Amino acid sequence: MLNVEILGGVGEYGRNCFFIENNGHAILLDCGVMNTRQKTPPNLTQAHVAKLDAVFISHSHSDHVGALPLLETWGYTGPIIMSKMTAQQLKQPCQHTKTFQPESIGEWIVVSNGLSFQWGYSGHLIGSVWYKIRFFEEVIFYSGDYVVDSFLLKAELPIEDGTVYDVAIIDSGHVEKSINNLEVLQQMTEYIHANPGCPIIFPSSFSGKTVDIATYLFQHTTRSICIHDNLLSLFENYYEEPENLLPTKTILPSFKRQCLIKTTDSECAIYFVPERDETKLEELLHKKSNAIMIFTGYWNKGKYSMQFSRNQHKEFFYKTHPDYHDIITLSKKIHAQKTIYFHSSLTTKETTFLQLIKNEEEVL
Ligand SMILES: [Zn+2]
Ligand SMILES: [Zn+2]
Repeated sequence: MLNVEILGGVGEYGRNCFFIENNGHAILLDCGVMNTRQKTPPNLTQAHVAKLDAVFISHSHSDHVGALPLLETWGYTGPIIMSKMTAQQLKQPCQHTKTFQPESIGEWIVVSNGLSFQWGYSGHLIGSVWYKIRFFEEVIFYSGDYVVDSFLLKAELPIEDGTVYDVAIIDSGHVEKSINNLEVLQQMTEYIHANPGCPIIFPSSFSGKTVDIATYLFQHTTRSICIHDNLLSLFENYYEEPENLLPTKTILPSFKRQCLIKTTDSECAIYFVPERDETKLEELLHKKSNAIMIFTGYWNKGKYSMQFSRNQHKEFFYKTHPDYHDIITLSKKIHAQKTIYFHSSLTTKETTFLQLIKNEEEVL
């Protein structure tokens, strides 16, 4: 029987890490730290690491990979499984990675006797994936971070073949929200059209969201789009792995040329600047005094020491995780005997599907 030990990421936003034991063998799903200055690691011990056969990584964000160096410290030499794109995006070099290519989507990949997996795209970041893992007689589903309705990225669940999962671990990151991403993009566009004289600044993260917004605005406004150097590699990734994109999104080549042109002096451009680079944001805001900052998630004006006047900022929340209805849909599609909802301080290890439905009115 499966024994799931939650080492982090349930009842909190960050340090996602799940240790699963079966038949005297063990695997780890993600190995992240908190996104705070302290970078709190998960409750992983040397004793856990000594038992591991394999580690599965969903994507390159630090709340999923930040504690990988601990594995090496404690002498782990087994495979660390991830997509080729995820491996390429890692900030710290990682030994023992075992990567899979886009062509292997939907295939059973054998890791060892009793351990095999399938993967598919999860729509959250280019290269981000979910896993369906066969661990001896048991089957596990791990969503990783999931976005149902990315403008550019594919998100397809495992084919329905009658599998009843013993355990499903499902992203509940935006459980308190109800959002349609395409509507948010349309609202942003209207807002930008209504403010023709104002440059627009998006404090941005290394995520699918940033490329979704930049691409949509490139298509639906006449403004120049300026991407900060530190985010350019993210855009480059879209040309390297077109398999990860929805088939209708084929206009990217001209967008790429546009992005790479240095247009920082044009009057009313739309700027994408790393959200953690306050110096750069402040500098830009100083240079373009009538610019408007648009915040698109939990990272908002409260994160900065600089002050904003009332007309200097606006919020449009764009999903980077499933919202309430997405979580219900995902839970219904993945038939599981037990579901663990992670990636939110509003769900705990006791949260069940029925409770989620019952709490609907309180949640929303
Ligand atoms: Zn993520
Ligand atoms: Zn995450």
